[in-house]
Amino acid sequence: MNVSPYFSAKYADARAKFLDAATAAHARLKSYRNPTRGPEGEELFTDTAWVGPADAERVLMSISATHGVEGFCGSGVQVGWHDSGLAKELPEGTAVLTVHASNPHGFAWLRRVTEENVDLNRNFVDHAKDYPVHPAYEELHEAICPRGWDDADIAATGTVLDAYTEKHGAFALQEAITAGQYRHADGLFYGGNAPTWAAATLHEILKRELAGARRVAVIDYHTGLGPRGYGERICVHAPGSPDLARAESWYGGDITSPAQGNSASAELTGVNLVGIVEALPHAQVTGIALEYGTIATDDVIFALRADNWLHAHGDPASTKGQEIKAQIRDAFYQDADDWKQIIWERGINTQNLALKGLCEG
Ligand SMILES: [Zn+2]
Repeated sequence: MNVSPYFSAKYADARAKFLDAATAAHARLKSYRNPTRGPEGEELFTDTAWVGPADAERVLMSISATHGVEGFCGSGVQVGWHDSGLAKELPEGTAVLTVHASNPHGFAWLRRVTEENVDLNRNFVDHAKDYPVHPAYEELHEAICPRGWDDADIAATGTVLDAYTEKHGAFALQEAITAGQYRHADGLFYGGNAPTWAAATLHEILKRELAGARRVAVIDYHTGLGPRGYGERICVHAPGSPDLARAESWYGGDITSPAQGNSASAELTGVNLVGIVEALPHAQVTGIALEYGTIATDDVIFALRADNWLHAHGDPASTKGQEIKAQIRDAFYQDADDWKQIIWERGINTQNLALKGLCEG
């Protein structure tokens, strides 16, 4: 089976394919319009599709494009799940809620962040409380996000970051940049100082769709970390908790835990799973991020720094801007048949294990 046609090269195409496939699968659809527009003036939406009994207490929720540009991956699996006939094979009393383009602005603009320049997966913190502080990011902010992006700027800031790696190691640099920061609104991995439109929309979806759910599995599709094509099941439930134990059991031990230091991901603050758990006190939630590798982490971070510069100081329509957009797209989406095939197989395998877990306990 050739799964490549399920994947799209643009947000608008991904959305059209998703709505077509979900409609054909007799899903109940709902659309949430984002207040911004895409680069071609197109309207942007988060769309949801519900397949299965309206009163199902067991629900698998799949999410794509939490990190905008990473949405090409999750969208492909979501489209294919509806189109391939799998949507007809649900266990009794079980439903699938698909959230397509949780961050449609980032998806359309080929950005990891939302329209507020916020990392949605760092935005689920209590904004009334003091924010987590990450001194390592503070130390490196100027080098991570320089005002200029010519060869000299890249070389000079690269020297600073290389020196940090030399002293503390590559993973420490990744952690410093990616953990999540709440002080520099123009910086990378900024968690925001208020709930974003996308966070508020996810809350609305949870309230509307999952009020009657008792057992919820979450699979949040991501890309950009780990070996090319490999799908790491990252679980942020607390070490020692029954939730982490349940996830380990469902996925046959094939999960990782940043808190236990065995993941390609650093420990993060404000991730969406925390917001989902808090919003569903009546349900038992078992969640993972399914994180697929693309290119080397260094190159991914370089593409993110360039993109951050572009949208803060440059012109996305310029030749240089177009080069940077191509670079960031490749950093989060491999437009290659072999990559799409392994993304699909691991994605469907993971969804099937989650559906089985929901039914068995
Ligand atoms: Zn991500």
